[in-house]
Amino acid sequence: MVVGQTVHLSGATREEFLADAEWVAHEAVHLRQYREHGLVRFLWKYLVESARVGYFHNKYEVEAREEARRVVLADPAHVLRPLPRHATRP
Ligand SMILES: [Zn+2]
Repeated sequence: MVVGQTVHLSGATREEFLADAEWVAHEAVHLRQYREHGLVRFLWKYLVESARVGYFHNKYEVEAREEARRVVLADPAHVLRPLPRHATRP
């Protein structure tokens, strides 16, 4: 997960994270979202959105999932992997 401009890994190594282009692209979207809204404002909006529609339908997660998928599909050498655990419906 991203807080501010730092990606915090849980249950994965830095190498595993960096080897997964889709995951990297997903977290890169969250880094941009923090930059666009500001730390406190984005955290607040993210939590309100999660409380309103849940994690999976949270618009910031939807944006990150869709953008990450586009990035991977745009790479001619892409290898589609199953969606990461955090991006699948519970
Ligand atoms: Zn996310």
